[in-house]
Amino acid sequence: MKLILATSNKGKVREIKALCKDFEVIPYSELMEEFEIVEDGADFKENALIKARAVFKALNEDDIVVIADDSGISVDVLDGKPGIYSARHAGKNANDKDNLHKLIQDIKDKNVTSSPAHYTAAIAIVTKNSEYVVHGWMYGTAIAEAIGDGGFGYDPMFIPLGYDKSLGQLDDEVKKKLSHRSKALELARVIIKSL
Ligand code: IMP
Repeated sequence: MKLILATSNKGKVREIKALCKDFEVIPYSELMEEFEIVEDGADFKENALIKARAVFKALNEDDIVVIADDSGISVDVLDGKPGIYSARHAGKNANDKDNLHKLIQDIKDKNVTSSPAHYTAAIAIVTKNSEYVVHGWMYGTAIAEAIGDGGFGYDPMFIPLGYDKSLGQLDDEVKKKLSHRSKALELARVIIKSL
């Protein structure tokens, strides 16, 4: 079955392809020109649905399954920020590095060197006749420094619970086992197979 992915975020595409090897996963940008999707939902679930619905509508084909991932990191000492604003934490056109360094600075500004934190992923699945959303979470510690260059986004400053290294240092296989995205996708796979 062909799964159309409503994202062109390279980190997400790489991880979702690795976690869905039994499906053909195609980023929508390979099928049409990328377009801006305004993510103005109140939570991860709404934003994931907004993205999947927008791509389903734009592709205008009845026989496709579109999935979208909306995800982010929530830091306790920052009252759960940046949360759904993780992609634009350092501003509208910020890149992953800008966001990472802003979050490190925000934690330092609280006069601490680390804080409990968690990642959330909402995966929306949209077809002609149905819509679903599933979630996954990964808990750990956000540290006020970046260590390693593995993963993407905030991974160099996130130490998963039970580990003493950041996701920037740990092997991809560890993240594959633990991540918010892999947990949500485990549930998504059950739904996709039932379609
Ligand atoms: P979205 O495309 O609006 O869902 O933005 C997700 C944001 O959260 C991006 O800035 C990512 O860098 C960050 N993010 C989501 N999942 C991860 C992850 O697994 N590792 C690191 N950063 C992530």
